[in-house]
Amino acid sequence: MTDNGQYSAVIIGGGPAGSAAGAILAEHGHRVLILEREKFPRYHIGESLIPFTFHPLQRLGLIPKMKSSNFVKKYSVQFVQPNGKASQPFYFFMRYDRDSVAQTWQVLRSEFDEMLLNHARNKGAQVKEEITVKELIWEDDRVTGVRAQDKKGGITNYRAPITLDCTGKEAFGAVRNGWRVRDPYLNKVAVWTYYKGAKRDPGIDEGATTVAFVPEKGWFWYIPQHEDMVSVGVVAEGKYLTRGGVKDPGQIFHREVEQNLWIKDHLACGQQVGRYYLTSEYSFHARHCGTEGLLLVGDAFAFLDPVFSSGLMFALKSGVLAGDAIHEALLAGDFSPDRFREYAKTLREGVENMRKLVYAFYNPNFSFRALADKYPDLVGDVTDCLSGDVNKDFSRLFRAISETADVPEPLPLGEPLVKAP
Ligand SMILES: Cc1cc2nc3c(=O)[nH]c(=O)nc-3n(C[C@H](O)[C@H](O)[C@H](O)COP(=O)(O)OP(=O)(O)OC[C@H]3O[C@@H](n4cnc5c(N)ncnc54)[C@H](O)[C@@H]3O)c2cc1C
Repeated sequence: MTDNGQYSAVIIGGGPAGSAAGAILAEHGHRVLILEREKFPRYHIGESLIPFTFHPLQRLGLIPKMKSSNFVKKYSVQFVQPNGKASQPFYFFMRYDRDSVAQTWQVLRSEFDEMLLNHARNKGAQVKEEITVKELIWEDDRVTGVRAQDKKGGITNYRAPITLDCTGKEAFGAVRNGWRVRDPYLNKVAVWTYYKGAKRDPGIDEGATTVAFVPEKGWFWYIPQHEDMVSVGVVAEGKYLTRGGVKDPGQIFHREVEQNLWIKDHLACGQQVGRYYLTSEYSFHARHCGTEGLLLVGDAFAFLDPVFSSGLMFALKSGVLAGDAIHEALLAGDFSPDRFREYAKTLREGVENMRKLVYAFYNPNFSFRALADKYPDLVGDVTDCLSGDVNKDFSRLFRAISETADVPEPLPLGEPLVKAP
């Protein structure tokens, strides 16, 4: 075993959360190390951005790169009934500034994540790929670094006063500390694949996200990407998707395609490419945002059902917030858990607001259209929350939703773990 010296911060995972935090810390001039298990570019699901991802991307200085990229521009979202009838698309420029927030992107994650990781590198973060963190190093109830293994099996200790867990839904720290809490209701399964040459809507609708319903049971995403590819997947309860004992992801997928005429029609002219993917029960929360010397960021802190494509916004936003909070901690030489209370509160508040809308979406008694008809003045609040402007007072909106659907209480989670002296 070797000891690789002292850093200001060690980041586990070079996905969007880790790269964002790494870039911010490096920009502040700190000696930061990102340890990433994979060699980038690597595959990842989660390809649709929402409008308020603009702000963390802007803070990172990445808007010009995004604007000149090949990523498909996304101006709207639409909803499609099982019989193929599509709603009027909702264009973000109906509420937001056309030159900034109102246009977002559908990204190929291998390219997007590599761009973010290279950005952290360019800012001065040291990045080591193909290194897997195996353990947190604890000393007197505080985390003082990590023990990691390279692909030849060599073990190295990397030390820092603060470690950021940005390991995505693997949730390294939460799992090892027994902090992982499943969402009591959001226990869905997703099956997805890719098509080349599938149908695209014309003009500015080309890059729209389509959410297409499967009768009373679940929904498809249809996300057009560059190089004429489309990401398409179905989300529902596992019991429903595997009914009749069907377990093969390809068979599950094609049976559900028959349940929505729009999806069937749009895929008909395309060619399915590559494998079928399956993931299950992916909504969870961490009981604590961290403890002395450890902070959880991105999916490693909380991950919600992907119906409103909020994951990347939360990952990038939490990466930026964590980077700034740790910068302050480094300046003060104080890494006590209390310092990260505000960080955790902001994120939990955003997650809880979005979570209430996710619950409403899955409630068969609830309809966004009926809500808008009855309370036209609340449409702006719905739009803001779904677009990722999540840290606002939505109490009027949630009171109105509670007339037809259960609105979940906030989960009492996320406080830092403060050890008794
Ligand atoms: C089915 C599905 C659909 C989704 N659709 C969308 C969508 O449309 N829009 C959206 O915004 N989000 C979507 N998401 C969510 C999105 O994928 C995540 O929110 C996002 O990837 C979180 O970023 P992150 O940086 O926290 O984690 P990740 O992107 O998962 O990055 C974590 C990184 O950590 C590395 N790592 C893990 N363990 C270790 C270790 N022990 N040592 C070293 N490195 C390690 C991994 O290799 C990985 O590169 C979807 C998710 C699912 C499951």
